Amino acid sequence: MSYDDDNIFARILRGEIPCDKVYESDHALAFRDIAPKAPTHVLVIPRGPYENLHDFAERGSDAELADWVRAMAAVARAEGVTEDGYRATVNNGRHGNQEVPHVHAHIVGGRQLGGAPRG
Ligand code: 5GP
Repeated sequence: MSYDDDNIFARILRGEIPCDKVYESDHALAFRDIAPKAPTHVLVIPRGPYENLHDFAERGSDAELADWVRAMAAVARAEGVTEDGYRATVNNGRHGNQEVPHVHAHIVGGRQLGGAPRG
């Protein structure tokens, strides 16, 4: 698997492109999606160079993986969506419609969402 160092999230991590940061930790960064689908739409990414969920699960350290999941929950709490609920989605590969080849979770909430999974 070859990670593309020039993908847009790698450039955000290097500070070459601005982002609307909402949370950061040792191993994770969270920022608002540029095209939000709901009142809360935040992307949570590990800082390390991982293309998708499988790459991250197989090569990431336990500390990186734990930090990423905790970052998702911290974002949801900071956004005030924990009580009403929200969706955490990871799109993977071509069939999953993954557009950016750096693993990311979408934290989406702030309104009633449609049923899942959806095709
Ligand atoms: P995917 O389909 O890969 O799961 O989702 C990629 C997401 O990244 C999309 O929701 C898209 O709106 C968002 N996105 C793409 N380019 C940028 C960018 O430059 N900045 C931010 N903040 N989000 C982006």
